[in-house]
Amino acid sequence: MIINADLHIHGRYSMATSKNMTPEVIAPQAKLKGLDLVGTGDVLNSKWLQILDETIEETENGIFSIKNKRIKDDTNSTCKFILTVEVEDIKRVHHLIILPSFEAAYEVREELHGNLDADGRPKVRMNGADIMDIAHEHNCLFGPSHAFTPWTSIYKEYDSIYDCYSKKPDFLELGLSADSDMADHIKELQNIPFLSNSDAHSPWPHRLGREFNELDVKALTFKNIANCILKSRIKANYGFDPQLGKYHKTACTKCYKVFNIKEVSLNKMKCLCGGTIKKGVDYRTYELSSWNKPHHPPHRPPYIHIIPLADIISLTYGKGVTTVFVQKIWKELVQKFGNEISVLIYTPLEELKNKNPQLSTVIEAFRNKTLQIQPGGGGKYGKILIGHDNEFRNTAPDNTLDIYF
Ligand SMILES: [Zn+2]
Ligand SMILES: [Zn+2]
Repeated sequence: MIINADLHIHGRYSMATSKNMTPEVIAPQAKLKGLDLVGTGDVLNSKWLQILDETIEETENGIFSIKNKRIKDDTNSTCKFILTVEVEDIKRVHHLIILPSFEAAYEVREELHGNLDADGRPKVRMNGADIMDIAHEHNCLFGPSHAFTPWTSIYKEYDSIYDCYSKKPDFLELGLSADSDMADHIKELQNIPFLSNSDAHSPWPHRLGREFNELDVKALTFKNIANCILKSRIKANYGFDPQLGKYHKTACTKCYKVFNIKEVSLNKMKCLCGGTIKKGVDYRTYELSSWNKPHHPPHRPPYIHIIPLADIISLTYGKGVTTVFVQKIWKELVQKFGNEISVLIYTPLEELKNKNPQLSTVIEAFRNKTLQIQPGGGGKYGKILIGHDNEFRNTAPDNTLDIYF
């Protein structure tokens, strides 16, 4: 069976995360989005463990569902969960762990040093290799999160993943600002499977599942998911055009001005406004490149660029993405056509035109790749620009400036 899995999100106890991030809100939202499986996130945090214990139960080996009596959604249909956590190591590098059971979570918790309850994403006073060893002793999958971002990724700290781990991780998460075309410029990543996950801090459809993995498994169990990733049998990665990511271009973290890296390294990465300039993921992958064009190994699946449908609706009507107006149109469309991916990619344009002519022209532009993007950088998401009588407009107030959610 084919399933869509988003394996990296955060619960309500992580910094700058929406209080709505609870399993009972996430599960029905994820299903509408078209996801079958979502990572719980934060499974080493005791408050989050308590919420998970109250709300989900194991229904297949290593796979969890919302406890029956708690389902409130009118569709009576929710997605499943797999246990996951992101940890920060002593060098401020982020790693993603996918766990087989609550027992494993409690055992890993015992062995890691640090205050695991201070934040949903714990800071661990250990290096990446030691954390990886503990994860592997407990049959978890392990790899770097958002591998190329400038603040907390493996490649901000090291020029090779082997300098951190000494051995091959089980996967590498690309992050919103990179795709497999970019990462397949790097020779040491050729034999490593790529994951594309949302890292969502809120459950709304422009965040949850904005990146996900299409997996082919016989049945939904932890073991099958693990084998599918380890044996590079991921069918497709779906995710942002990397230009939409917050760290794609080299830019100031205060005024978000985009810079050419060569001109700023002379000024010690300081902007005229006084802000710090952060190296973009596009330049970091270029620095690490072994080739001047991508070399996709035979096991590498296609990477399909998507833009959240709620963002497209928001831009079309000039209304905020979290407004009732936009959410209502989004829900009507996904309920009529199955899920968001179906609306974005597969539903015939004629059918969309009948339902909503104004929106169908923008979806047509998205499919034809004629939507223009002003790239993100310095912590600000890229902007989608809709061509309009040779001018561009972007009237959605919270489409680009809400940095955390
Ligand atoms: Zn992270
Ligand atoms: Zn600046």
